Amino acid sequence: MNAKVWLVGAGPGDPELLTLKAVRALSEADVVLIDDLVNDAILEHCGNARIIPVGKRGGCRSMPQAFIHRLMLRYARQGKCVVRLKGGDPCIFGRGGEEAQWLRERGVEVELVNGITAGLAGATQCDIPLTLRGVARGVTLVTAHTQDGSSLNWPALAQSGTTLVIYMGVAKLSDIRQQLLAGGMAADTPVALIENASLPHQRECRSDLTAMEEDAYTFELKSPAILVIGAVAAGVTLPLWERGLPANSVCESA
Ligand code: SAH
Repeated sequence: MNAKVWLVGAGPGDPELLTLKAVRALSEADVVLIDDLVNDAILEHCGNARIIPVGKRGGCRSMPQAFIHRLMLRYARQGKCVVRLKGGDPCIFGRGGEEAQWLRERGVEVELVNGITAGLAGATQCDIPLTLRGVARGVTLVTAHTQDGSSLNWPALAQSGTTLVIYMGVAKLSDIRQQLLAGGMAADTPVALIENASLPHQRECRSDLTAMEEDAYTFELKSPAILVIGAVAAGVTLPLWERGLPANSVCESA
């Protein structure tokens, strides 16, 4: 394999949710840089590669992003096949886009490999269909955490009619609740809080917009967790007509 950096998604944690392409990249790698949301069980695919942990857990010291960039560049310039293994999907709140751009600007070949992002996996593990005909016409992935302190357009999110999947929201529940209520979302909108999605210690808590902060506290919700907010979070899995509602109330295009 040529000198190259693969930015690879490790999926949400369950090793069986890894893609075959990710497994191939890992098996051919000389060096693997791993984030700490990556399940160790996935590393069995790494062959003889040198494994370098570069991750952080909220609040702990971490390798600065600039150092990770330089590390990837150094190994690539040595002709090594480098895999940067990230939790979930590398381009969903994973800095895959900026890392790819930085490396390409320096002449390094980059290949991105999808992983199953935690929000999609978590919902599925809890039998929540993120889109559902007549109920949720779309899904919006957002993070509650911004580095520059800028705010999301909460009223637009509250009224979008899509299921909201919120990443990095555990420490921001109060803010999220207030903003969505102020933005016009119904107080009884169902919410699912899903911790450690797809892992053996996965936990889920069903709540609603009003109660979610208190319920999360009682439940002792911890990161990593995702929030699913919208009618589907109640666990509705049957189409309208099977729930006794008239079929003509179903939006066929959603
Ligand atoms: N690139 C990752 C997201 C990284 S941001 C992805 O596509 O999944 C880190 C956030 O992702 C966490 O704060 C949490 O909100 C979410 N997350 C990652 N793994 C998770 C898991 N197994 N269960 C629940 N949430 C998870």
